[in-house]
Amino acid sequence: MGRLDGKVAIISGGARGQGATEARMLAMEGASVVFGDILDDEGRQVEAQIRELGGEATYVHLDVTSEADWKSAVDTAVSAYGKLNVLVNNAGILIRKTLEETTGEDWDRIMSINAKGVFLGTRVAIPAMREAGGGSIVNISSTAGLVSSPSGSASYTATKGAVRLLTKSTAIQYAREGIRCNSVHPGPIETDMIQDSLSDPAQMELRMQRLPMGRVGKPEEVAYGVIYLASDESSFVTGSELVIDGGTTAQ
Ligand code: NAD
Repeated sequence: MGRLDGKVAIISGGARGQGATEARMLAMEGASVVFGDILDDEGRQVEAQIRELGGEATYVHLDVTSEADWKSAVDTAVSAYGKLNVLVNNAGILIRKTLEETTGEDWDRIMSINAKGVFLGTRVAIPAMREAGGGSIVNISSTAGLVSSPSGSASYTATKGAVRLLTKSTAIQYAREGIRCNSVHPGPIETDMIQDSLSDPAQMELRMQRLPMGRVGKPEEVAYGVIYLASDESSFVTGSELVIDGGTTAQ
């Protein structure tokens, strides 16, 4: 028995990193998974790997800034698997610049992927979730959506703060319809996104000072939290913040 048996899920940014791990782990818990990205070759490889493991997964091209792409992802979920129960808004980018280094173009780009992308996905998924009698939306924010950091990117922090409160707004507006919405706040997780800083000793030293557990996290450690929020185990949980950060924001 899987914890997500019978559920149909969409995951954005699933070709790499945490999204690819979530696609695989949700499928292994019994969900039928539609996952999208802009990296189509890598996405199709992840699809093949999940199918080899016996999971049910379909890759779609999904640029989260495109409402038309979101519509076709939801259409794929409904036509291939009959409904939509879960949306994981995971896709995101990091622009590592100080406030003064950040250009207006940088700001618009990161806002449009990290914040508007979550809004569009939510807006398009809700009618299908209503049709299914309820659902669960999991928004991947960050510890950067809770607090800033000495080396933190100003624009990234702003997008993740936006995701945190969009989550609460969504939770309140749809609570009576059985559609839950929660945010996840990972600390540093070993993926391509932060590879530059993981291989820089000075940056690593700064990171370790902020990591009581003395290590960065693994994508699986976030995916377990996503599975909990996606499943009926969290049926009374909405508008909440699940912090998975090795103690970073506790100090
Ligand atoms: P990653 O760079 O490995 O993966 C991000 C994925 O998003 C990539 O596959 C990328 O192609 C995709 N993506 C980028 N732009 C897209 C677009 N317009 N449409 C669709 N997909 C797009 O990084 P990750 O660590 O797996 O990041 C996943 C999420 O976790 C992000 O929202 C990120 O901000 C968040 N996060 C990461 C960390 C970390 O330390 N890695 C910490 C906290 C939060």
